Amino acid sequence: METNLHGKLALVTGSTSGIGLGIATELARSGCDVVLSGFGDPAAINELQMGLRNEYGVRALHVEADVAKPEECRSLVSRARAECGDIDILVNNAGIQHVAPLEEFSEERWDAILAVNLSAAFHLSAAVLPGMRRRVYGRIINIASVHGLVGSKFKAAYVAAKHGLIGLTKVTALETAGQGVTCNAICPGWVLTPLVEAQVNERMKREGLERLQAEQLLLSEKQPSGKFATPQQIGALAVFLCSDAAANITGASLPVDGGWTAQ
Ligand code: NAD
Repeated sequence: METNLHGKLALVTGSTSGIGLGIATELARSGCDVVLSGFGDPAAINELQMGLRNEYGVRALHVEADVAKPEECRSLVSRARAECGDIDILVNNAGIQHVAPLEEFSEERWDAILAVNLSAAFHLSAAVLPGMRRRVYGRIINIASVHGLVGSKFKAAYVAAKHGLIGLTKVTALETAGQGVTCNAICPGWVLTPLVEAQVNERMKREGLERLQAEQLLLSEKQPSGKFATPQQIGALAVFLCSDAAANITGASLPVDGGWTAQ
């Protein structure tokens, strides 16, 4: 079943890279206009916008914001609205990672991870909800993680933030139930993006491994499928959640994890 999102507008945070870019691309493929956000080289971001416009005939615009800052979350929504209109679909995807034992985890890293991976979703959701309620259509998709469902060593802030994001997803779903608005979390396992590349590189260095060995080790420890999930697969699930077929799915946490959380 093809989902037609023509005439809808999505704001996808962290869409200059990895999973967010995969989601923005799949939404655009379904006819959705997209507001991109995230850091990166201006020329490369310009190319991304042009690519989406040319390939899918949708409007695509980049709005700069540091979502670690509450005031920039609010102004991201107001600038997107001023340029493109009301936001129908919000994908809270921007995220950062840091790996260290608890007692060596710096306060700065803890605060930054909580701000980007959790608090930004709160500020952005609060800013878009009134418009969604008025139009009796809205989709909020929080990109959590398997680490919203289970823990792993050395990821205190990330695991705490992602568990928090799943809690926020449930509350948002309850407060919007029956109003045409849904809120769900997608929980990816390993997806080979720059965020995971950093962990592969760290493993190569620490254990003297070749790239392929380090990748296989990460997968074999956690992801029974033995394969990375792809940004396109996460994007396809996001598109489904925006469809009428998914209108009664809300407050759910949906793993795309090759069996990680089935163990
Ligand atoms: P990535 O590093 O490729 O992309 C992260 C994006 O977030 C980039 O566009 C970056 O510019 C943006 N970003 C980071 N800090 C920001 C800030 N302060 N303000 C605005 N934008 C900011 O990472 P990814 O792997 O694509 O991760 C995307 C999301 O998916 C994250 O929430 C991550 O936790 C989650 N996730 C990733 C994996 C994985 O295996 N890659 C697994 C589970 C969950």
